[in-house]
Amino acid sequence: MTKKIGFIGLGKMGARMARRLLKAGFPVMAHDICSQKMYTLQAAGATTYPSSRELAIEADVIITMLPQPGDTEKLMLGRNGILNDLKPGNIYIDMSTSSLELTLRIYEETKTRNLKMLDAPVSGGMSGAEDGSLTLMVGGEKDVFWECRAIFEAIGTKILYTGPAGSGVTMKLLNNLVYSVNICALSETLALGESLGLRTEQMLEAFQGSSAGSYCVDKKAPTYIIPGDFSSGFSTDNLLKDIGLAMALTGSNNYKPVFCELAQRYFQTARERGLGGEDNSAVIKVFRALINS
Ligand code: NAD
Repeated sequence: MTKKIGFIGLGKMGARMARRLLKAGFPVMAHDICSQKMYTLQAAGATTYPSSRELAIEADVIITMLPQPGDTEKLMLGRNGILNDLKPGNIYIDMSTSSLELTLRIYEETKTRNLKMLDAPVSGGMSGAEDGSLTLMVGGEKDVFWECRAIFEAIGTKILYTGPAGSGVTMKLLNNLVYSVNICALSETLALGESLGLRTEQMLEAFQGSSAGSYCVDKKAPTYIIPGDFSSGFSTDNLLKDIGLAMALTGSNNYKPVFCELAQRYFQTARERGLGGEDNSAVIKVFRALINS
């Protein structure tokens, strides 16, 4: 039987992912605290609910795609938390980039209520969400993963089972840790090259497929840095959230990832300069200012 999906959080990523589920034939029930976002999804075929509780009572599977761990914590475990509204056997999938600590706490709560839970954060940005080519990193019990496979296939092309609960979110935070260092290094290099008289477009052409090549060279720079429009995408604020969460994964010996700590400093400067809401590649403005001052 096709599962009824309750999708909560219809932002830049969530709305696109929910539309992919509709396209794949899933009945989607949707909720966002912003009613305008609900109307848009209604037009695409979703049933919308004015509150997450009403939606939770109806759904077989709840998916959340929320900005901060605090939002997820309040929604699931708060005073009117919807975990209490789910029925035994229901599945909760958190696709947000959340904290390991919160993921494990919610997982333990689901166990005591005979619910199932997966942490399944995604990578690939808005374009990946739009065309269903996201990478999914899924932690939790393997049989639950297989039960949800068709849902994941509607959203992504690379679907990785990473192991027990919390391993999906750990993998995703480490991915973003590498990304944050990459985008900082590229931004610094481009700003330096520009000051040495090189053209940004040609530097990118030289780096593509060369030893300096990366996702940042292939996708981020052409989309945001070249047009100079940072108004959409993955915000500096959200990346700073992920860096903070990744730095809490200190592993043995309380190790602090040094490159990431350095990148964090430049993103914090970007936020102090009012760039928190812009795509994080706007960090190039910080380097341009430093190099040209
Ligand atoms: P966003 O801010 O565009 O969307 C979040 C949505 O959640 C908003 O529409 C907001 O109104 C809604 N919301 C907040 N609290 C709510 C609540 N209690 N109930 C219902 N709706 C609520 O954020 P986004 O860019 O879509 O990111 C969502 C998550 O995905 C974050 O964890 C982010 O780190 C992660 N992520 C983002 C990207 C990206 O490129 N934007 C890529 C991969 C992962």
